[in-house]
Amino acid sequence: MNEYVIEIQALSRRFGKKYALQDIDVKVPRGIVLGLVGENGAGKTTLIKHLLGLLKAQTGTVRVFDKNPVEDPVGVLGRIGYLSENREMPQWMSINEYIRYTKAFYPGWDMEYEKELISNFELDRTQLIKHLSRGQKAKVGLLVALAYKPDLLLFDEPSSGLDPVVRRDMLTAIVRTITEEGRTIVLSSHLLDEVERVADQVVMIHEGQIVLSDTLEDIREAHHQLIVRFEQDQDQKPILPGMLSCEGGPMEWSCLCKEKIDILKTAVQNLKGNIVECTSPSLDEIFVARVKADTI
Ligand code: ATP
Repeated sequence: MNEYVIEIQALSRRFGKKYALQDIDVKVPRGIVLGLVGENGAGKTTLIKHLLGLLKAQTGTVRVFDKNPVEDPVGVLGRIGYLSENREMPQWMSINEYIRYTKAFYPGWDMEYEKELISNFELDRTQLIKHLSRGQKAKVGLLVALAYKPDLLLFDEPSSGLDPVVRRDMLTAIVRTITEEGRTIVLSSHLLDEVERVADQVVMIHEGQIVLSDTLEDIREAHHQLIVRFEQDQDQKPILPGMLSCEGGPMEWSCLCKEKIDILKTAVQNLKGNIVECTSPSLDEIFVARVKADTI
């Protein structure tokens, strides 16, 4: 059995002259949550459409469960749960009718889990879809994507535009799902704090290209946010190894660096400065620094 659920190699996609994705490599092992992050228009949805077989690779290869999703849609889609921001649901159905209609397609539907989600999400089965709020619709969409226990879940901005309470409920359900053995999740979002709470591995896309791809743990360990103080005013910002951003001055600077702390300490000493604070930057701070970096 292939250890990777998703294997994307050298994938590029153009719409007209513009690259939506350029030379993308992503490997997702079984049983993890992959956070796919990037600002609006970065290429996240385009990537997910390739996984669903809705777009054919122009260059490179896309394999899901070791199959080409364009050539074998049944073999791939039957094992994928998909939830997007713009999920279409039949407005005239009640929640219960919609669930009954959907589960007819999936023999592996988990009735107990369905009941648990209805209760956790505080949904009323008799309510018509057309009368639901945005958050309630998102919860119904999530319930349907989760309850048939797919091997791979693709969430494209699932909680975009929802209030923090609904977002938290949805994330809790996602986390509960990953504790189910062997399931894999791709969570695409521009809400980096959300991704940071659940992801094992992160792929950051900027203008169609991957700017960072690693486990969350390694990303956290590799980046340091330093406050560096000097005895005297500095005309220019200090240059430190792996520096992605540096602001402040003239005596105190706040610098975000991707480098080992020992190397940074030596570099600051050589500049006759002191590190007065060293913290772990958030994923959001790393992302902003990465995409604006003059030196990567
Ligand atoms: P968002 O967070 O806003 O959903 P995204 O990261 O999902 O953004 P994509 O929807 O993948 O971004 O779009 C990537 C780029 O490709 C954008 O510049 C977009 O305008 C372009 N694009 C996507 N689909 C098409 C299409 N069918 N025709 C032309 N251009 C497209």
